[in-house]
Amino acid sequence: MPLHSNESSNAFNVELERENDNTSHWLLRLAFASSIESCRWFVNHEHWLLKLRYALSPLKEKAEFVKSIQLPYDYLTAPQKAELYDMLSGSTLHSRSVEAEEFVKVPWTHVTDLVAKRHVLLHKGFAYVPSSDFFSVISSRFRDQLEGEMDRMCRLLLANPIEDRVRTLLDHIRNSEHEAPQKQVKFDELSAGDIEASSSHFPPCMSFMYGHLKSDKHLKYNGRLQFGLFLKSIGLPFNEAMLFWKRAFSKFSDDEFNKSYAYNVRHNYGLEGKRANYGCWNCKQIILGPQPAPSDHSGCPFKHQSSEQLVATLQSTYSLNELQLKEVVDIARSGHFQTACSRVLELHQPNSAALTEPVTTPTQFYEASLAQASKKM
Ligand code: SF4
Repeated sequence: MPLHSNESSNAFNVELERENDNTSHWLLRLAFASSIESCRWFVNHEHWLLKLRYALSPLKEKAEFVKSIQLPYDYLTAPQKAELYDMLSGSTLHSRSVEAEEFVKVPWTHVTDLVAKRHVLLHKGFAYVPSSDFFSVISSRFRDQLEGEMDRMCRLLLANPIEDRVRTLLDHIRNSEHEAPQKQVKFDELSAGDIEASSSHFPPCMSFMYGHLKSDKHLKYNGRLQFGLFLKSIGLPFNEAMLFWKRAFSKFSDDEFNKSYAYNVRHNYGLEGKRANYGCWNCKQIILGPQPAPSDHSGCPFKHQSSEQLVATLQSTYSLNELQLKEVVDIARSGHFQTACSRVLELHQPNSAALTEPVTTPTQFYEASLAQASKKM
């Protein structure tokens, strides 16, 4: 959504842009206040957006913004800066000169960390913070405030459930693609017999389900959907998928398979029901989905498994030592599930430059792992 600066008001309808931005912000608050995890996702992204918009704003608008948030902060005017020039020159540790820097006057108790590090001028109860350090002051206040408000909204929604019709709409907003659109990768076609060899490139979620499929000769509905759509996306055509699932469900007779499970496979390939061309679920859809029941092996191991389970899942497929396992589990426990997943690939395949950002779809992990393996050949 474009948000032009106030200076562009002759060329763009900035009022309308702000109105739309405000409406979508509150709608997203409502949609993402459904769980602690989705609140955290929302706060992180809003924080990132604030950082971007602040960095791109001209100084005049930064000063107006600082005034508008009704905190006791002020950008120094040119005469004020001239008055304090000598003291600012003596105090600032920044390589930029006082002329080139802008300063914000802040009660010193709001920036005790900067005061302790002697990064700011302290004068008559105020700290004079270089604008290059000032964003961290605003951003931590913004994050604290938004987290508190999301927390309150989350509790309110739990106590006062929303009408089903509205909830469906909000679920749809939350679960729709809130990642940048993924490029569609066309993988080489696979046969049912290729899946075992390809499985060494599966991300942890798929590897975990595939392991259970082999040992239990069965997967529950969500697993069949999540894993089946992944196999489709990495190049398994319909006829081979039918063969693969029939073999995998070998404890069932052909009749039982055809009666109870063949429909799912046909549905995944758009041959039943709405006949839609379903693609692989992305990580956010999987992560924000409900907690799977104990016998349902779908979901994201980083989000849905305990630390002990996660270690066992990772050890079964990837060559990670104890320290590396601890690192990955720590990342996952801090709520950065996709970063933890990317880290597994980096550690499992050292020198991998293929994933520079947290993984956003299971097929992206698969593609990066395949690319790294083919480099080694
Ligand atoms: S982060 Fe994505 S690809 Fe990795 S395990 Fe979770 S859902 Fe699968």
